[in-house]
Order: sequence, then C-alpha cells, then structure tokens
Amino acid sequence: MADLSFIIVFGTRWHFRTTDDGWDGALNCPVCEGPERMVQQHAFKAFTLYWWPLFKTEEGGELVRCSSCGTRFFLPEELLVGETSPAPLEQVPAPAT
Ligand SMILES: [Zn+2]
Repeated sequence: MADLSFIIVFGTRWHFRTTDDGWDGALNCPVCEGPERMVQQHAFKAFTLYWWPLFKTEEGGELVRCSSCGTRFFLPEELLVGETSPAPLEQVPAPAT
C-alpha cells in the first residue's frame, strides 16, 4: 500500500482590505511623529485553508493604516463626519492569529 502523507494547513487569520471610497488623507502618525498619509481599511478575521481566506469568522471594524510605517489605528469617528483634526490616534494592538 502506498504511504500517502500530507499536511492540511488551515486556521484563522486577520485580513485587512482597503475600503473602496474609504477615508484617505493626512493625519498625524504617533509612530512617525508627523503627518502621514492614512488610508481606511476594513479588518476581518477569516477561516483559511492553505492560506486562502474562505469565509469571515469575525468582524474587526474600520481602521486607518499609516502608509509610511504600516501601523494601524482605530478610525476616529470625527473623520466620518468631515472633521480633519481628530483626537490623537489610538494604535490597534497587534491581532492574535
Ligand atoms: Zn506612521
């Protein structure tokens, strides 16, 4: 009999997708300590099979990501109502995989 052995790789992982027509502009990045371009992203956790996301398991809400350092911050609600000087950005803790 042939000895077939293989590994199935699956699990859950956080994904980030840039929001179409999302917020896009300059905010003060606490990490870069200056104004940097920030782009809105939608965070979700998905079940993956061989690293491919198959379906969402958890919603992570809306974030902004600094295009300079890559750090993600909670999207300040002020931005959504048109204000451009929101409270200091709050860093999103590194999500557990
Ligand atoms: Zn930054």
